[in-house]
Amino acid sequence: MTLSRREFLTLLGGTALLAPGVHASAFPLRGTYALAGVVHPGRGAPMPGHAVLVRAGRIEGVVPAKTVADRPILAPENVSILPGVINAHCHTLHSARERRERWLLCGVTSIGDAASPLDALPALLDSPPGTTATASTCGPMLCPPGGYPLPIHSPKHGMVAATPRQGADAVKRLADLGVTRIKIAFEPGVMPEPWPLFDPATAAAICDEAHRLGLGVRCHVEDLSGLGPALDAGVSVIEHVPHRWNDRGRIRSVLTPDDAPAPYYLGLLERMVRDGVTMTPTLDVFTRTPWNGPALFEPVRAFHAMGGRIALGNDFPYRRTEAGMPVREMRLLARAGLDKAAVLEAATVSAAEVCGFTDRGVIAPGMAADLLMVRGEPGPDALKDPLHIVKEGVFIR
Ligand SMILES: [Zn+2]
Repeated sequence: MTLSRREFLTLLGGTALLAPGVHASAFPLRGTYALAGVVHPGRGAPMPGHAVLVRAGRIEGVVPAKTVADRPILAPENVSILPGVINAHCHTLHSARERRERWLLCGVTSIGDAASPLDALPALLDSPPGTTATASTCGPMLCPPGGYPLPIHSPKHGMVAATPRQGADAVKRLADLGVTRIKIAFEPGVMPEPWPLFDPATAAAICDEAHRLGLGVRCHVEDLSGLGPALDAGVSVIEHVPHRWNDRGRIRSVLTPDDAPAPYYLGLLERMVRDGVTMTPTLDVFTRTPWNGPALFEPVRAFHAMGGRIALGNDFPYRRTEAGMPVREMRLLARAGLDKAAVLEAATVSAAEVCGFTDRGVIAPGMAADLLMVRGEPGPDALKDPLHIVKEGVFIR
């Protein structure tokens, strides 16, 4: 039966008898129902006139809406249904309550915490189903002695690994504490004296141990000089878009005079595509710096054009980036050449992969029912104010 929004939500709330023969108690809060409209699965073509079947917090399937007969259907006019948005790169807001209020209530159903102090882990791992944005966590960033993030962040944000053995042990320790990703950096900084970088053997030992334990490695790279060593080590994701270049003491532009990435840079971007390494450009934060311009956008454009996988993240809260729906990052990705479908994929499927979420980020059978229903096309304007937000089957809004 297709119900009005009010009837449907009242029914899901378990408070009323609404349709002949159907009692509310048959549909508890995380009940069995269907959402119909234009289904955007996250990857692949939109499916007009389809319904997402939900049962007990999971997606059962996607079927033509007119074939649904066994459950209540919510089918407002002119709506799109898409996976909940994932902000793959952010920091702070650790507690379940903060993640609910600042992310989930805006339609961001999961986040990727891209490095936090050890003492934040218990809060990040606390995710009562259907109540808050699920968090993927890295714990502190592994770094060489004196290396980034230690020169500019509190010591709690870094965990020193001076040798391959220490690197592998640190990964094991973080895995035991429940992290779902490992974070490292190749960051020389912009000072005359470069900050220490990992030696290749230590970086490789960290990546090997992480992969052995099924953990992807997210690597902070802002300076192009760090990109080759990061790929040599075997990282899974490049965090940020490399936009400056300290080439063995010589400061160079990452772009040619006609604004294409330098040949050396293009070669590394091609290698990322070949090796399946994702980029989380975090344009939102860097467009708030003096680097705002082609050095940020052109490498992303080139990487996307050659088939590279891009994930959405905005590096909240740095440089006054905002929590909530990351519409500014969506618009900036569009400016870098991603069409609407590619932006949606970056914000769902690819963001989930970066975070290590294997059961969300896409509308498919067996996935968690983290869903958004928006008016019209699922672009930034519609996403700013979703009609409905569903977290693990629970109507949040
Ligand atoms: Zn960050």
